[in-house]
Amino acid sequence: MPEGPEIHREADKIRDAIGNQPCRYAYFYHDHLKPFEKELVGSTFNSVEAHGKGMVIEIEGGHYFYSHNQLYGKWYIKPAGEYPDTNRELRAELRTDLNSALLYSASEIEIMDKESLNEHSYLTKLGPDVLRDVTPELIAERAGSDQFNGRSFAALLLDQQFLGGVGNYLRTEILFHSAIHPKDRPKDLTDEELLEFGKSVLTISHRSYESGGITVDDESLRTAKSRGEKRKTHRYYLFGREDDDCRVCGSTIVKKKISGRRIYICSNCQNR
Ligand SMILES: [Zn+2]
Repeated sequence: MPEGPEIHREADKIRDAIGNQPCRYAYFYHDHLKPFEKELVGSTFNSVEAHGKGMVIEIEGGHYFYSHNQLYGKWYIKPAGEYPDTNRELRAELRTDLNSALLYSASEIEIMDKESLNEHSYLTKLGPDVLRDVTPELIAERAGSDQFNGRSFAALLLDQQFLGGVGNYLRTEILFHSAIHPKDRPKDLTDEELLEFGKSVLTISHRSYESGGITVDDESLRTAKSRGEKRKTHRYYLFGREDDDCRVCGSTIVKKKISGRRIYICSNCQNR
């Protein structure tokens, strides 16, 4: 499932394609959205923003297009009126004079007014967005708060209420980068360590956003490529690298299941 960095890159792509241009044509698969096909024509796409793993497009006239891709949804950008070669089902098209933003296979699509947006069940539960709304200090403060400090980091990082946009690969990579064992809890750490954790969250998330999914530093990437590793593993410190050697200390990486999802650990490095 795409995580914050992927969703933000997708938002950038959609914004570049249709942002600040008027809608010339709209299509919606779901019957309850059909009335908007006419209503939106002529209105400008004012903003496109990722919210956790959801997408919100603000449209002139007080409309908010919301989608959550779950596992299968996929956006395509095409010149206006053109379609990709795919067997997926088109669920929404937002077209300007220049481009079409096409959403396939997504199950959750809504068009709301501001009030409904503010009451939306996913969005209201969402914590600050990891790529837009946070500083290391804020993350440290949240982690150390009574609401979150007694839970394991492994559980916390998958909780969208703690931070919106962190998912499974970021969880493994952030905890490795901050040398925290997944079973540790914020209350086991000093304030200084919590601040370091906050910095790691930002370093790894932004690195992945800017590079298109690479969480390792340049030197680790060069070394991994020179070993002949493919993209599937060379972009990560630990994720997907069960039984291989830790890039830092050479210990064997183990895979576990915590909070229902797989996580990778170097118990030598993640040992505060
Ligand atoms: Zn290690």
